[in-house]
Amino acid sequence: MNRSSAKFKTFSQVVKEFVGALWKRRTYDIFENWYCLFGVLWGTPVPIVTIGIDLHSSGLSITLPNIIQTILLRPFHIFFLLHPIFFGIVFGAMGTVRYNKEQRIEGFEKSLIDKNAELAQKNDRLQELDRLKSNFLSMVSHELRTPLTTIQGYISFLMTEKIGAINKAQREYLAISGDSADLLNRLIEDLLDLSKIESDRFKVNLTNVNMANIIDKALLSRKLFADKQGVALENNMPDDLPSVYADEERIFQVITNILENSIKFNRKGGKAAIRASIRPDGKVIFCISDTGIGIPSDKLDRIFDKFYQVDSSGKRKYGGCGLGLAISKSIIGLHNGRIWVESEVGTGSKFFFELLIVK
Ligand code: ADP
Repeated sequence: MNRSSAKFKTFSQVVKEFVGALWKRRTYDIFENWYCLFGVLWGTPVPIVTIGIDLHSSGLSITLPNIIQTILLRPFHIFFLLHPIFFGIVFGAMGTVRYNKEQRIEGFEKSLIDKNAELAQKNDRLQELDRLKSNFLSMVSHELRTPLTTIQGYISFLMTEKIGAINKAQREYLAISGDSADLLNRLIEDLLDLSKIESDRFKVNLTNVNMANIIDKALLSRKLFADKQGVALENNMPDDLPSVYADEERIFQVITNILENSIKFNRKGGKAAIRASIRPDGKVIFCISDTGIGIPSDKLDRIFDKFYQVDSSGKRKYGGCGLGLAISKSIIGLHNGRIWVESEVGTGSKFFFELLIVK
């Protein structure tokens, strides 16, 4: 719609509203509609002035018989005499239009207030449900952890052969059970972390940390998995890396999360490497790169959302539950740092995060 037709529509609307108001009792009610009274008062000087001028130019004094005579002599004075009524009607109609508009606005306001109250109620309910979900998550994770710790304990104990020798096959099966129990344990830890994040109980304890040690430890912890997957791990950390402010345990968790992904989403004969660079703005940027499957550009933002997985189909071939990066993002956020990713499908991915150098 162009501007002039929009203008015309507004004008025709005004005319419609005005004509509609002429049929309303309110338009003519000088007690309820002050606009009508205002119009009458506004129009009153018109007959006074016109008849006054006529009397004056005829040399007549202002008396009732002279006024009546002048009106009868020149009937157009009746038109001016009716002016207070005309003005009363026009102003009264405008008052009615305004009143109708105010009524409509009041109606909107009321429905807005009602809708707001409804939304607030729904929001409260959602928050309550969210709290229940977090409690449930926390409770279930705790309940699962207790028997799992027992299972892990007995597997380790059986492996020590203190209660009897085990053969090669039994050792192998126990090792597989142990690996699965570890996996389950990590999943439960992730769920517990998520429940802490959601209930604002997730905290970090920042101290001066030597990252070289943590990275060595992280690489060592994932060596077996990397060997199994046929992925080479490379440590390209500079020797002169300064200490950073970090929570040692939580940063170890971030590095192992990312490292594990760079092995998991890699190919046989591929590589996962870690390096760091010191920035002039007092930060160290860590980069874990891989030569894996890569991530489509439209999914790059989503992978840090909880439970998000690029391949979430029923026949996905990689394990995990999509929590690692969401937790890592929260951890880096608590360090006042950033975490981001660059990736190319078929070539590989680079995960970056930054930490503050200790001054
Ligand atoms: P999980 O690994 O348990 O699925 P994450 O939160 O660690 O959960 O990762 C979320 C998703 O991001 C993964 O499911 C995967 O689709 C994608 N992703 C993460 N790291 C990589 C990587 N290095 N290469 C390719 N895809 C990755």
